Amino acid sequence: SLILAIETSCDETSAAVVEDGAIVRSNVVSSQIDVHERFGGVVPEIASRKHVESITRIMEQAIEKSGYRMKDLDAIAVTQGPGLVGALLVGIVAAKTLALALDIPLIGTHHIAGHIYANRLQQELSYPAMALVVSGGHTELVLMRSEGRFEVIGRTRDDAAGEAYDKVARALKLPYPGGPHIDKLAAEADEAVALPRAWLEADSYDFSFSGLKSAVLSAINQARMKGQTLDERSLARGFQESVIDVLVTKALRAVKQYEAKELLLCGGVAANRGLREVLTASCEAEGVRLCIPPHTLCTDNAAMIGAAAYLKQKRGLYSDLDMKADPGLSLEKWSVE
Ligand code: ATP
Ligand code: MG
Ligand code: FE
Repeated sequence: SLILAIETSCDETSAAVVEDGAIVRSNVVSSQIDVHERFGGVVPEIASRKHVESITRIMEQAIEKSGYRMKDLDAIAVTQGPGLVGALLVGIVAAKTLALALDIPLIGTHHIAGHIYANRLQQELSYPAMALVVSGGHTELVLMRSEGRFEVIGRTRDDAAGEAYDKVARALKLPYPGGPHIDKLAAEADEAVALPRAWLEADSYDFSFSGLKSAVLSAINQARMKGQTLDERSLARGFQESVIDVLVTKALRAVKQYEAKELLLCGGVAANRGLREVLTASCEAEGVRLCIPPHTLCTDNAAMIGAAAYLKQKRGLYSDLDMKADPGLSLEKWSVE
């Protein structure tokens, strides 16, 4: 099966051709980061306009690079949600138009199911599987007892991990998105500032990062008020260690409790070198199988949408042509059974 997938939920315009939900034939990503950088974050109206400007070209490039032709396609997949409604709409209109013109099915796809199934582009998966989703808008532990069945067993009660990274980076006057810059500073540090960890209730798989973020912001403000020079590296390292400690500990506890055969890391923050290192070492020590997609499949891209859409396609579960963008689309409800 050959799926053309489209992703426009935030600030990446992307199209990909994916075979059998597992093989990436092409994956073209056009990032708008340079456009949003000077605003310190994504500006929704600008994001929509930029998607409109690039979507046709990106889709054509994806087809061309795949080595296939339009008539070879079996289905069109597109991110239905969650995301910015105006941005989602651009991809959805393009997908519907193409599905109608080629007379092939449309598959509305969940963005986070996409992040999770980016792992299927890396290897075959065994179930039950546990996914640690760490992205700009989500921090979740998702149990899959079988393929395509999603149960969210833990979520953030305030900021997402990526959001905390971006806010801390902004306070340190680093460019947007801040995650990679904090990652780099942390790696250069000789020591770490001691910062709190939010474990919440003993049996909870939920997360909370706003307290940590506030602790970092107050350390920055205090140093500025006292006219002291701030050791940004140690602060970045302390912040990163606190985030990683909680993520890794809870993920491994969840793997054990639910007897998951595999831990799948995904989302933009999965690109974090510190997190990859600590998680790899901990999983090795505990005998847990870990899958981490390459960097390019961790941040937003359409190939992951094609991988998730295949779950529906192989079961003949298609969307109507009047499908609407759904900024609050539920992952559990998007499950295949
Ligand atoms: P969502 O998927 O929840 O809708 P999103 O699509 O905006 O949100 P992603 O594109 O998956 O999020 O990830 C972007 C986030 O990843 C940003 O917050 C960015 O700072 C963070 N990020 C990227 N690289 C790194 C890194 N090396 N270390 C930490 N964070 C990183
Ligand atoms: Mg993005
Ligand atoms: Fe994302």
